[in-house]
Amino acid sequence: MAYPITYDEYQKNLEKGRFVGLKCKKCQTVSFPPTAVCRACGATALEPVTLGGGGTVKTFTVIRVAPEGRKPPYIVVMVELDEGPFVLGNLDGIQPDQATMDLIGKRVHMDRHLVKGDVYSGEDTYVPLFRPESS
Ligand SMILES: [Zn+2]
Repeated sequence: MAYPITYDEYQKNLEKGRFVGLKCKKCQTVSFPPTAVCRACGATALEPVTLGGGGTVKTFTVIRVAPEGRKPPYIVVMVELDEGPFVLGNLDGIQPDQATMDLIGKRVHMDRHLVKGDVYSGEDTYVPLFRPESS
């Protein structure tokens, strides 16, 4: 089976700030990062779709004890993108000590940042990063 988007292509798009996911041709569910199978109906007929990057914070946590190589404190958010998929990422632009439950429901915009390869992963990887829409 040929993947509509390979992991390498996903990474190259992310590096350029393009958020390309997959849309199910059967039920229209969008996945991001791209998955080989529709998470809603299991279909494999998927086509690339470029996402706008806007979303809403569904929940978050403040990391105060971080994995080796990461500098706490920082905020990790679970965001529901406007197109539907839920994405985890760091939240930039708000001080972790200022984080309150008011973050839930806040509009954010997706960006990306490079996480250097470390003891947990073999190579440098681009991952989603979120910022408040107003900043
Ligand atoms: Zn589907």
